[in-house]
Amino acid sequence: MDEEGWFSVTPEEIAVRHAQRSIAGGVVIDCFAGMGGNSIQFAALGYHVISIDIDPLKVEMASNNAKIYGVDNYIDFIVGDFLQLAPSLKGNVAFLSPPWGGPSYKMTHNFTLDLLKPVDWYTLFQVAQRITPNIIMFLPRNVDVCQVEQLSWLSLP
Ligand code: ADP
Repeated sequence: MDEEGWFSVTPEEIAVRHAQRSIAGGVVIDCFAGMGGNSIQFAALGYHVISIDIDPLKVEMASNNAKIYGVDNYIDFIVGDFLQLAPSLKGNVAFLSPPWGGPSYKMTHNFTLDLLKPVDWYTLFQVAQRITPNIIMFLPRNVDVCQVEQLSWLSLP
């Protein structure tokens, strides 16, 4: 892990729950994989994972972490920009955990979706929808739930 990894990695118990909720199974795309905390838990349940990060060092660390957990055979690591790769990706589940802007997200009373990076969430959500209707989004607990509700209506049924 690097320094940023310690605050940005998904806590292991939460990553386990994310994976358990991923009932659409098959191939899971971890679109902003970071240290690989989520990819590892999807792989541990036997899903095939496509694990993407724009930073080659993150991918190197995630790959090493997957080896430590003994699940590297279930994960294909890709260095690249998810937004550019998206049109050529196929999968059953898209897991989105994009940058929240670092630990300062906690200071915001109402975390609106435009605070997310690298693009606004409506755009990101629509990019993911072209891959699969099964989208898991990992959002801060102080997120604006009205906005999340609006977003979820986009993915009916
Ligand atoms: P946080 O603000 O939650 O700490 P990070 O800044 O660590 O989030 O970002 C999460 C991960 O997303 C990082 O590993 C970063 O390299 C990766 N990332 C950022 N932009 C892209 C992108 N366009 N495509 C793929 N991965 C990206």
